Amino acid sequence: MAYIELCKENFYHNLDQLILKAGAKHKLAVVLKDNAYGHGLEEMAQMAAEYGIKEAVVADNDEALRIRELFTNVLVLGDTPRIDKRLSYAISELESLRHIAPEVKVELKVDTGMHRNGISLQELDEALTLVKNRGIQLFGVMTHYRSADELTSEFFWQKKTFASVKSRVRQAGFDQTRFHSCNSAALLRSVGFDETIARVGIAIYGFDTLPEGFEKSDLRPVLSLWARRASRRTLRPGQRVGYGGEFTAPKTMKVSTYDLGYGDGWPRGDAHNPYVTEEGCRILGRVSMDYLSLEEEKETVCIMRDAARAARHFGTIPYEMTTALQPTLLRRIRKEKK
Ligand SMILES: *Cc1c(COP(=O)(O)O)cnc(C)c1O
Repeated sequence: MAYIELCKENFYHNLDQLILKAGAKHKLAVVLKDNAYGHGLEEMAQMAAEYGIKEAVVADNDEALRIRELFTNVLVLGDTPRIDKRLSYAISELESLRHIAPEVKVELKVDTGMHRNGISLQELDEALTLVKNRGIQLFGVMTHYRSADELTSEFFWQKKTFASVKSRVRQAGFDQTRFHSCNSAALLRSVGFDETIARVGIAIYGFDTLPEGFEKSDLRPVLSLWARRASRRTLRPGQRVGYGGEFTAPKTMKVSTYDLGYGDGWPRGDAHNPYVTEEGCRILGRVSMDYLSLEEEKETVCIMRDAARAARHFGTIPYEMTTALQPTLLRRIRKEKK
């Protein structure tokens, strides 16, 4: 079986680096949504908790319930709120505040410019009034940046808008409410971070998404993707490999089939512009559902170690490369560096 290896040492190294930015361990909320960006929810949650992280962020209740014991609070970004001391819920609509059980830990999401989720600035006063009148527990107020990873002024005006949201919330008398707005890119570029938590996703997995022009962070990929040999053969010149016979052997060559394909979440790509593995081996012909071919004989090969490099090849982002990897792939944790 093809498998994913998770490097604990690199993960902890990334957390160390991010704490330098956030100021303290308890300020890092690790974003583990979507199966921890494809890395494996339980595995990443367990390692984060062991390191001493107290806060996590997930997509839905299913993920939250699988890891809730490990953290003091788990923020659920998009699901039906439950009454649970350990779970808080991002609430994006005024309407929800009219019906929600007051005991739910609410993290009110305010739209400061991304226009994806969150109540508008015009709705803020009404939202705060509803919260007061209904005795709702306003655990947090949050926002999300649309351009934290771009070298433009957009980030600054959104940040300023959120600053005004904060003062309006405080003026309304909510002095126990926490505030958070930063994703990885925003935390990496911030100076003097002063919010309660930062919601860090991609950076904990080892990717710095800030473009040229920003100081580079020392982050290391946590995930590597491995495949095992299923069979081998010797091709004579002119023999062609795989569906459509897109690759023709120019010479006698030893070719092996490895057990990774698009069914596992590896991109099918373009046989005419083949991906080259981490070990310098290009994929021969088309990737099929469960297999791909390499001019190689080894039993186990490393297909990807740097998802940012693979993402450049496939014209996407590291987030999509790792998130696509199926939960059915085996996950192993490597304790020491190789
Ligand atoms: C996914 C997500 C994050 C994490 O973003 P990264 O760029 O991976 O750090 C933070 N906040 C919200 C609301 C998100 O949806």
